[in-house]
Amino acid sequence: MGLVACKFGGSSAADGLQVRKIRSIVEYNPDRRYIVVSAPGKRFDGDNKITDMLYLLRSHAEHNAPYEQLLQVIKERFLGLEADLGVSVGIAGEFEVIEENLGKGASADYLASRGEYLSAKLIAAFLGYDFVDAAGLVLFNDKGKFLYEETNAALGEALSHHERAVIPGFYGTLPDGGIKTFTRGGSDITGALVARAAGADVYENWTDVSGFLMADPRIVENPKAISRISYKELRELSYMGASVLHENAIYPARLAGIPINIRNTNIPQDPGTIISATETDSGSGGVITGIAGNRDFTVIAIYKNMMSNETGFIKRVLSILEDYDIPIEHIPSGVDTVSVVIADKFLGDKLGDLIEDLERKTGADSIEVFEKMSLIATVGTGMAKVPGVAARLFGALYEAGVNIRMIDQGSSEMNIIVGVETKDFEAAIRAIYAAFVEPA
Ligand code: ASP
Repeated sequence: MGLVACKFGGSSAADGLQVRKIRSIVEYNPDRRYIVVSAPGKRFDGDNKITDMLYLLRSHAEHNAPYEQLLQVIKERFLGLEADLGVSVGIAGEFEVIEENLGKGASADYLASRGEYLSAKLIAAFLGYDFVDAAGLVLFNDKGKFLYEETNAALGEALSHHERAVIPGFYGTLPDGGIKTFTRGGSDITGALVARAAGADVYENWTDVSGFLMADPRIVENPKAISRISYKELRELSYMGASVLHENAIYPARLAGIPINIRNTNIPQDPGTIISATETDSGSGGVITGIAGNRDFTVIAIYKNMMSNETGFIKRVLSILEDYDIPIEHIPSGVDTVSVVIADKFLGDKLGDLIEDLERKTGADSIEVFEKMSLIATVGTGMAKVPGVAARLFGALYEAGVNIRMIDQGSSEMNIIVGVETKDFEAAIRAIYAAFVEPA
């Protein structure tokens, strides 16, 4: 018998109808023995995700605003699910505990985690699987840092006592027993941890799309699906903004060599995307696997005559950024220039002071700032072996009238990152896509 670990996202757990789809999928393949679930998501456009409402609940409580009605809405959603699924897991009693803890100043992490906790209880009962709480098994240290190996050991031990189990995603515990969540979308990480700890053959991540697309469908019309992608390529694409899977979900699966299969709960017959160590092209027959990008960057270009003969210049630049606690995205450099690319969210209102310090402390001849920049990564392991990829990419951007302000090619030759003005962001992605991908 094989072993498949599955994670079902919020849209798959949104209501009774969706949870019945989970049951059909799980029953279809008896190897699907460990199931990680998210909190119920949106049932229709304009609906609310349980997790969002739980965070809102916490804000209300924190500001002494009335929250009873909101709590009632959340409770009714779970009571409705319990009735619809015909199970009884004591939702009413669970809400008494939640309300009591809320009155005692429960943390945002504790409250947010209750969505996954209750969802897992309901789905476990409905599937006839054991409920195994993530509390005490998914572990963080007292600084809130996630503990990979300790978690792997604890989860592996616990799961060995359960033939089939449902585990809530998204959270774990601190050494004092307090609840700590991952960042948003973190049930994907729990799914990968469970897959690794249980030694699964595959980690199926069930969502509401049939895998990864080669580009954002809001920008490129009808982009092709990626049937296969390597962990490395995916890491690049997710880092650059392609979302479907939480970026930190890749590491545990990769470590254990477990392929991740992104699947669609609503179209279970679709094969989806397989993410594995195998470095093949996307199966689309092209040299690139995908394109992703992020807006809102600032590039600071620092010029210093004869910089290349000087030692310690870049170190001085970097240590100033460190003083400002600003992480750096990229450091493209030329003979007498070095640029730092910074995400605006980290820059905040520090730009003026930062430039002043850079001017004063590095001895730069001049500094130029380019605001409203976007980065676009074109990714594909196939690119390294094919000559002329860069020329084709730059040619396409030239044809589209896009001005390239920065180029950075990773040493693996697996990606080419270009910096363009944000006004050209979408046009640039469309141009690159058209240059590399045959129309469907
Ligand atoms: N429910 C959490 C969120 O909305 C975690 C998850 O779904 O993965 O972010």
